Amino acid sequence: MKKWVVANWKMNGSKELVGAYKNAFGNADNLIACPPFVYLNAIGTNAGAQNVHHLPKGAYTGEVSAQILAEIGVKYCLVGHSERRQYFHESDDLIKIKANACQESNITPIICVGESLAEYLDGQTIKVLVRQLQNCLPDSPQFWVAYEPLWAIGTGQTPTVEEISNVHYMLRESLPGVVLLYGGSVSALNASEIFAINNVDGVLVGGASLDISAIKNIYNLANKAR
Ligand code: PEP
Repeated sequence: MKKWVVANWKMNGSKELVGAYKNAFGNADNLIACPPFVYLNAIGTNAGAQNVHHLPKGAYTGEVSAQILAEIGVKYCLVGHSERRQYFHESDDLIKIKANACQESNITPIICVGESLAEYLDGQTIKVLVRQLQNCLPDSPQFWVAYEPLWAIGTGQTPTVEEISNVHYMLRESLPGVVLLYGGSVSALNASEIFAINNVDGVLVGGASLDISAIKNIYNLANKAR
């Protein structure tokens, strides 16, 4: 089975990194690069956006719609990343509307869900995820889900293999046929064991995606795990 690598550059990157990705992954059928908007056109075929406005057009200075993304060939968009929820106060309701807007423009929304550290420590992970999924999922079935525990993002900490496995089992049971990613401190060191977990179809990589040799290693491990 194909294993996906989705690279979330966040508000980072450069023309040089765009060039390095084009060289390394220009022909890849399983790597999606999500650079800042301004680099999407240059990065080529495997482009994903990190965010989208929920309306198709209008007087919303600084915003980018799904229609515009689709016109330049973007096929995927992260929706509801925890940094969007935290810093831009995106609610589950807004995330659902954004996901629907993506689908209307034939863009696959990658919907991010995950529990906080306090919820994790309190044993609430599955309950939180079920609630987020109930509220965030779009109306039609063409979407992906990324499980990203908030406490694992950018911290170097990850859930155990068993914990990821349990969450992805639950996700697979409730969402058959949906591509399921794990994200949170994925690196070249832990990627193999994460790719090997049942029901993990790929990884969402933040920090390590900015280091071209690290992301190449993760990509090679994804292809070994196919
Ligand atoms: C992310 O931001 O989606 C992410 C997974 O980040 P990191 O890999 O740096 O934890």
